[in-house]
Amino acid sequence: MPIARVALPVAAATTFDYWVPEGLDVSPGRIVRVTLGARKVTGVVVAVGHDTSVAPEKLHPITDVLAVPPLPDDVLALAAFIASYYQETLGLALALAMPPTAGGGRRVRGAVVATWQLTPAGAQALPERVTRAPAARALFERFAHAERTLPASEAAALPPHQKRTLRAWREQGFVAGVPATDVGAAGMSHTLNDAQRIAVDEIAKADGTFTPFLLNGVTGSGKTDVYLAAAAPVFASGRQVLMLVPEINLTPQLVARVRHALPGLSVATLHSGLPAGERMAAWHAAAAGDAKLVLGTRLAVFAPMPALGLVVVDEEQDASYKQQDGVRYHARDAAVWRAHRRGVPVVLGSATPSLESWLHAREGRYRRLDLPVRADPRASPPRVALTPNRAARAQDGIGDRMREAIGARLARGEQSLVFVNRRGFAPSLVCASCRWEAQCPRCSARLTTHRDPPRLRCHHCGHAERVPAACPECGNVDLQPLGFGTQRLERALAAAFPAARIARVDRDTTQARHAFAAVRDQVGARTLDILVGTQMLAKGHDFPRLTLVCVLGADNALYSADFRATERLAALLMQVGGRAGRAGLPGEVIVQTDFPEHAAYAALVADDYGRFADALLAERQALELPPYTHAALLCADAHHRSDVDAFLAHAHAAGIALAADADPAVAVYSPVPALLARRAGLERGQIVVQSARRAALQRFLSAWRAALADIPGRRVRWALDVDPAGFG
Ligand code: ADP
Ligand code: ZN
Ligand code: ZN
Repeated sequence: MPIARVALPVAAATTFDYWVPEGLDVSPGRIVRVTLGARKVTGVVVAVGHDTSVAPEKLHPITDVLAVPPLPDDVLALAAFIASYYQETLGLALALAMPPTAGGGRRVRGAVVATWQLTPAGAQALPERVTRAPAARALFERFAHAERTLPASEAAALPPHQKRTLRAWREQGFVAGVPATDVGAAGMSHTLNDAQRIAVDEIAKADGTFTPFLLNGVTGSGKTDVYLAAAAPVFASGRQVLMLVPEINLTPQLVARVRHALPGLSVATLHSGLPAGERMAAWHAAAAGDAKLVLGTRLAVFAPMPALGLVVVDEEQDASYKQQDGVRYHARDAAVWRAHRRGVPVVLGSATPSLESWLHAREGRYRRLDLPVRADPRASPPRVALTPNRAARAQDGIGDRMREAIGARLARGEQSLVFVNRRGFAPSLVCASCRWEAQCPRCSARLTTHRDPPRLRCHHCGHAERVPAACPECGNVDLQPLGFGTQRLERALAAAFPAARIARVDRDTTQARHAFAAVRDQVGARTLDILVGTQMLAKGHDFPRLTLVCVLGADNALYSADFRATERLAALLMQVGGRAGRAGLPGEVIVQTDFPEHAAYAALVADDYGRFADALLAERQALELPPYTHAALLCADAHHRSDVDAFLAHAHAAGIALAADADPAVAVYSPVPALLARRAGLERGQIVVQSARRAALQRFLSAWRAALADIPGRRVRWALDVDPAGFG
């Protein structure tokens, strides 16, 4: 009787055996339904054999095999690597790779690989017809942008009445579905410059071998064109390209650029913001080899791709590639691993490479390709000015220099971006008389003041309460919001520039799926003058009339206890700065800071991230921090501090005992409270462990994890975080 070994998405560090009923096609990679106790669960077959240690009467059958293609070898291997490296169970790692609606398993034949295009007849007839039908006009306007096409993935997300309109137009011949076909290098929009050419040639030469590249290109240097030109021969030979991007918001814009450069190319987008049906269709298109470009966020690294020829990771330094809960994998590192396994080149692109990748390149493990100048010959690096923050505080956060600069842009019909890394009105509420501060009752954190509607909100746990009329400590009615958030700046700007058209972009304003795209369209159509927003605005948007970027509140990062805070600040500044003056108009960046001599600002002024990275690396080496050491974090939380402390004391003792034999050395640090010591009513603590050698740390972690599982104290939840984003 054949026995299948099945990995299930549960915390138990084991696989489960089931017998295979006659007629079921079961092989490694197949996705199956089984019973586990009273539950029905979906899992992945990892092996098929004839032996089992389970008693025959306890052996259950496989209930069903899903009608989806099996996970390919390299995806199974990637999941196994991730399970072992990040100290998680194979079942949980494999769950990341399962197709999105594996629960239902219904096969969806999607049109994701096609695009809707306005026909000449439609272009002629529709403008007239839609004038009195707002919904139809809105649909038509979506075609008016972006090369008169609408990706099918976006069409699938239209409201029902617009879908009906689209169908009617199709029947009338006003729009046509463009079938997915293979294309060659035709349609590239630019002649590549020398640096781009060299980069593309190097990548092409590496075809068919695992070669990691670090594409180090300043913002606006044309990295996207390099990706696409390097991908073209891969497409031309019928193979597939995997491209990871950090932001969901970036995918539509990038898809539009891809369509422009490589018309007719079949693209599948994969990100968690898509409805399951669309993701399923994209997954099938990837698995069948129909989708030539698979473009997506973190989870796309698991997409089945039978003809993978090239892997690209854009903005490789981006923190969103590291999953922060569950299986805490790093998608960039997973992408490099997968490229290695498949023997294909991998291109990591960034204007501000992570120190990890920078060090790999410096030590020759990655090949560095430099794009030192902006690609658009009319573009020049922005002028950078650092102006004091203190003076600005009395003026609602907007200093004189910034005010004048925005005024000048308004007068010239250019656009400004005001960037502040806090949403809400003000990051705190303080009593002017006794210094009482509004605190979250469930977290060790201050509450943020919001307006419209007025509320105090916790940005860590979501707690919300009324704004008190008087100080609960001393009764004073003079409660002052301190500091500046996006809402406050929006108001201040509206007061200073009453005629300006202002939009705010932060998590509060972009809940709706297309809200961000709508703002982007408005900026493109020049119906907006000033954008105020958080780091959502920092990345990858290309607005030719945007010539001024103002940065407020950046100094906060300098107070952070997180060892990566300065690296992040510099990356953010260079990125935000890169938004200014991308085309013919010169750009200007104004940063309000009280620490103008700090290295992060100096890097921005000198437009020299490399020097900054070298300096930071020297500091990390001196302090024995990553990437010179390999680190992991044991995080624990519980309702009572004493439970956390007791658990971590046990864990620490066990760790010290295990580390005694470790060679090379593994350092186990003392338990400490997390940076945010309490969150959502849970007390949090942690232990840092480090080793100069990855392998030594890995051996230690597997032994430690087994010991941790044996520690009594069920009221404590714990997790290991390998290569943590920070020690917080
Ligand atoms: P990055 O991703 O490196 O910040 P982009 O790929 O967004 O830069 O390119 C910046 C701008 O330069 C885009 O508008 C792009 O179309 C343009 N561009 C890219 N390559 C060239 C080139 N060789 N000549 C002219 N313009 C180019
Ligand atoms: Zn008070
Ligand atoms: Zn809270």
